[in-house]
Amino acid sequence: MKVGVLALQGASARHVAMLTRLGVQPLAVRSPAELDAVDALVLPGGESTTISMLLESSGLVEPLAARLSAGMPAFGTCAGMILLGREIIDGRPDQRCFEVVDITVRRNAFGRQIDSFEADLAVTGTGDAPVHAVFIRAPVVETVGEGVEILATVDGQPVLCRQGPVLVAAFHPELGDDPRLHELFLSEVV
Ligand code: GLN
Repeated sequence: MKVGVLALQGASARHVAMLTRLGVQPLAVRSPAELDAVDALVLPGGESTTISMLLESSGLVEPLAARLSAGMPAFGTCAGMILLGREIIDGRPDQRCFEVVDITVRRNAFGRQIDSFEADLAVTGTGDAPVHAVFIRAPVVETVGEGVEILATVDGQPVLCRQGPVLVAAFHPELGDDPRLHELFLSEVV
């Protein structure tokens, strides 16, 4: 199985490092041909409006939408979560999302950059030790559809969700030293 990391903009390098540490040799995905070569994809944090524009200009929107609707496992973190949700609030009007997780996501709703914060989360399916989570201009999940499992919350708000083979986190699990969420994602891939 080949795992890709979307590398158009944003925090792809730490995802690559984490996956490499877990024994997976990830492929950077910047083109439809590179997408064809992978069985699963990480969509990193960054700026979802910019990633959306770069997906358009690199011809990835249609092929990625097709792969996702055909059931490709995916892991979206922060901006990646915004891209995989059903609806974006406070987005740019031309910003795309792929609608594979039935959530409504409000951009930057935890505040501005200065309001970024960290939290220890109890995460379903990762054992007893909390997961230390870094939130950077994070999105808030405002509504959750029936098919969505909520795996972690902060103050009652979902911050880690799963629908079928797609996992989304409002935070940055690639920062720090804890591989458990990448392991959770990889368990969908094998
Ligand atoms: N605020 C960014 C966006 O709207 C997401 C921030 C992040 O990925 N850390 O895309």
